[in-house]
Order: sequence, then C-alpha cells, then structure tokens
Amino acid sequence: MKGKTILIVEDEPNIAEVVSLYLERADFKVRVARDGLAAMTILEERIPDLIVLDIMLPELDGFAITRWLRERSNVPIIMLTARRDEIDRISGLELGADDYVVKPFSPQELVSRVRAVLRRTSQAEIQPQDAQPVTAGNLTIEPLSRTATLQGETLTLTAKEFDMLHLFASRPQQVFTRDQLLDRVWGEVEYIDPSTVTVHVRRLREKIEEDPSSPTRLITVWGVGYKFVPDTKS
Ligand code: CA
Repeated sequence: MKGKTILIVEDEPNIAEVVSLYLERADFKVRVARDGLAAMTILEERIPDLIVLDIMLPELDGFAITRWLRERSNVPIIMLTARRDEIDRISGLELGADDYVVKPFSPQELVSRVRAVLRRTSQAEIQPQDAQPVTAGNLTIEPLSRTATLQGETLTLTAKEFDMLHLFASRPQQVFTRDQLLDRVWGEVEYIDPSTVTVHVRRLREKIEEDPSSPTRLITVWGVGYKFVPDTKS
C-alpha cells in the first residue's frame, strides 16, 4: 500500500493539514484540493488511488464531484460529513462512495479507513478466474503461489515468463500477437521494444520445450504471433 496517492478535497485548512500529515506518515503520497474546481483540475490530469472528499465545499459540493467522477472512474471515495442527515445520501446507491467518516473524527481513524478501503478494492480487482489453477496437458499453473510445473517438475521462471506462460496456458490454441503479449504481460509501460517478446518466448522455450529449436508447445504462427499447444499425451 506504500506510495499510493490520496487526493484530499477539503476547504478547511486545519483538517486538510492534519489529514495530510497523518497520511504522509503512513507512507501515502498526498495531494490537497481546497475546492471542487481545484479537485476536478487535478482529477482530469490524473486519477489518484483514493479520494478523501468533504461534502460541504465552495462552488461544487462533494455530491456533485462524486457524480462527475463516477462517469469517469471507479476510484474509491471516502466522504467526510459534518451532518448526520447526509449519511443516508452518502450510503445511498445513487452515489457510490465507498465509505464515510463523520466530523469530528480522529485522523488515525481516517487512516485506518483509507487502508481498509484500499485493501477491499484492490482485492476486488483480482479477477476470481485469474486465481484459479490452470491445467493444460501436463502443464499446471498455480497463480496464487506463482508456481508452474511441467510433467511434475517445478519450472524456474522469472515474473514475466510466468505471466506469459500463464496467459498462454489459460487460452490454449489462441494466437497472441506480439502487441497483445506486450499489452497483457507488460501492461501500461511507456515503451518496450517488441523484440522483448521474442527474447522471452525464446527463454520460455528453453524451459518448457524438449528441443527449444523445434518447439512443440509454444509454437510460432508465422506472420502473426505465438500460440500454446498442450501436450495430448499426459
Ligand atoms: Ca467543508
């Protein structure tokens, strides 16, 4: 959870300052917006990992910001409220805040809530099917322990080799282009040389093929990309 960015939207300087201090001490990166428009400017530039959002703000209130934001992002929101009668609206389905804290609150409690919401939402991001073991022929992949075995032998794989093999084995016979592999295995990084894929495929073959120079499992589909063919005999 270290290094996650939290945006605090709060017009009361004392509260903003104390909350920032506690979150920074807990190793979060903090940005502060003093009103709704400042918050939108920051959010249009970059969505943080979580937003602590006061309801009573000048210009645009917390409800309006949440509605605007929900059309763009599922970023977790913890709302700050000074009024009990606002709680029904916050917890109402229409808004989609993830939690709320009633003023006055202890900053330490807010930090705990931030941690709890981040834990909950990051777990929800793990797709259940991605956690399921995959068996393809005599290859078995255990995503949770990040281990792969071939014919009962544990393979020694780097993180990217594991991710690539997991992707291939989850979709046997499906052809992946280099771009798709870059996208799925390397994700959103600025620039990766496409030959990186070729290098990783070669290394993976050295680990899973009987004869890496004439592969039978990780096959080149000429002019397109690669596919994984499970062994038919076990
Ligand atoms: Ca306020």
